Amino acid sequence: MSCIFCKIVKGELPSYKVYEDENVLAFLDIAPVNQGHILVIPKKHYANLEEISNDDLCCLIKAVKKIGKALKQGLGIAGYNLQLNNDPAAGQVVPHIHFHVIPRKKGDGLKLWPQGEYREREAEKIAEKIKNGL
Ligand code: AMP
Ligand code: ZN
Repeated sequence: MSCIFCKIVKGELPSYKVYEDENVLAFLDIAPVNQGHILVIPKKHYANLEEISNDDLCCLIKAVKKIGKALKQGLGIAGYNLQLNNDPAAGQVVPHIHFHVIPRKKGDGLKLWPQGEYREREAEKIAEKIKNGL
């Protein structure tokens, strides 16, 4: 298995760990968007949100919540963004599911993505298609 996050879990690659339990590991992103940018991963290898078991997903999101609180209290940040790049088409580079927890400060200059608008009747068609996929 050549997954770099599995190697971090096994201790074969170094990382700045900030939290660990039986199921989850959280460590500093090596190329932070803002200082304190954390990656939270399940210890077991799953590629994406469709693969991860509901039990491990519960553990993962609980750890994300814990890390968010630690960033607020430990770094004194005002808020944070969560990001999960699900699949390469969405920008996922490391194929081991991970939440990014990105500390935010007012006026830090980070811009979120641009938003568009729906044409007439387009929104209800899109909503119908999505409901058909449930
Ligand atoms: P993604 O594009 O969602 O797959 O994000 C992968 C993230 O992993 C990027 O933000 C990288 O900076 C980060 N990353 C890659 N290698 C390492 C590493 N060895 N230690 C910590 N973070 C890493
Ligand atoms: Zn992995």
